[in-house]
Amino acid sequence: MDFTVDYDVAVVGGGIAGAAAALQAARSGKKTVLIEKTVLLGGLATSGLVYIYLPLCDGCGHQVTCGISEELLRNSLSYGPGEIPPNWRHEKNAPERRRLMCRFSPASFMLSLEELLLGENVDIWYDTLVCGVELSGRRVSALIVENESGRGRIAVKSAVDASGTAVVFRRAGIPCLSADNYLTMWAIQYQADAAGGDFGDRITLSAVTTSSLDQETHLTASPELLERMYGKHSEAEYHDLITYRGMTGKSVSRFVRESHRIFLELCKTKYEQGKYGRKELYPLKLPLMPQFRKIYCVEGEYVLQSGENAKYFEDSVGLLADWRKAGPEYVWEVPFRTLYPKEKIGGVIAAGRCTAAQGDAWEITRVIPSAAMTGQVAGLAASMAVDAGKEVWELDVHQVQDRLRELGFPIHRRDAGI
Ligand SMILES: Cc1cc2nc3c(=O)[nH]c(=O)nc-3n(C[C@H](O)[C@H](O)[C@H](O)COP(=O)(O)OP(=O)(O)OC[C@H]3O[C@@H](n4cnc5c(N)ncnc54)[C@H](O)[C@@H]3O)c2cc1C
Repeated sequence: MDFTVDYDVAVVGGGIAGAAAALQAARSGKKTVLIEKTVLLGGLATSGLVYIYLPLCDGCGHQVTCGISEELLRNSLSYGPGEIPPNWRHEKNAPERRRLMCRFSPASFMLSLEELLLGENVDIWYDTLVCGVELSGRRVSALIVENESGRGRIAVKSAVDASGTAVVFRRAGIPCLSADNYLTMWAIQYQADAAGGDFGDRITLSAVTTSSLDQETHLTASPELLERMYGKHSEAEYHDLITYRGMTGKSVSRFVRESHRIFLELCKTKYEQGKYGRKELYPLKLPLMPQFRKIYCVEGEYVLQSGENAKYFEDSVGLLADWRKAGPEYVWEVPFRTLYPKEKIGGVIAAGRCTAAQGDAWEITRVIPSAAMTGQVAGLAASMAVDAGKEVWELDVHQVQDRLRELGFPIHRRDAGI
């Protein structure tokens, strides 16, 4: 090893979940490091150009997600033009754009997030890859990292896996779950006649997704585009061609190459149609992360399942809204057990899209407000575990819930007036 350091809490991944976890751990008085392999904060939300902070409310006037999730939503607007719809509280069955949500400038959010974390004494390590873990008995005791200083060892009392890919769990040999992804490309482009979009005049988001999110087998990309990309095939064959799991280096590279190609093919199609030339329409910014929605999540003590919206969980640690549907019946309680592994290897807790969920439930837990919510819970629980000298599953969940209530969380649906 070229260096060895130690921290109370080490958070792996500087996405929204990691930022929230690090913020909460630092505020809980813990010596906290946030380790990020790129040189920017925000993960998919910013580097991935996903710029919509989805709703914290149920679309019928009830705010269900609070705490750092709301703080980050407001923080995302500090240096940018987005707005929270003013009348969200008075809307009944509000569509997405009239709920407690916002659209932010990715670059502004990267900067305001960094400012916030540094102000709370989070030690941010950029350009540092977590490439291994050390176990002492059945608990994670150190992270192995690589950066310009060489290969180092970060001894930790508690780690938070907010990597989006469950890298700490996997390196520790803890079972994880995966899911299918479909070819997607969200990028920012210049378009001479685009007026008044979220990024201002002439700068617009180009998005193509080859399947709908709630009907996994339904192709949403145009048949013309798919035929242009792959030649003529049946719908089932197209489905195979555009389905990915980001589980191997080869699959990730192919996904990225193909997402670039689909964007270029759209561009070329428009040039061929004659409406635009290369000066009227061109790519301006590509995502710096592969836009997989789901890669790996931990196989938790409990795995949240499709249809468990409106279900009461005794060990709930907070509420999440369904960003696709308005209504109190679409509010989910999140069990604490989804944050730690079924296989009892200690010293690590999940946050963000690494928390245990499957099917439709993963659609709820993976988005930005949810990442911030589970991130804050993970940062708090990791800190409480350090204080108590226990594993997170040995904590009294009622004490965790009490602390979260003090931090402004509704724990059960009834706490949010539902
Ligand atoms: C195409 C697309 C559209 C989406 N649209 C929306 C939307 O409109 N609104 C919304 O709310 N959500 C949307 N989402 C989902 C949402 O953006 C993400 O799921 C969410 O931001 C995930 O946050 P996270 O912190 O859990 O993970 P990530 O954002 O994946 O953050 C993980 C971080 O960990 C770092 N990391 C990974 N491995 C390592 C390692 N080994 N060492 C060090 N660092 C590491 C990464 O660089 C990254 O910064 C969309 C997702 C996609 C793919």
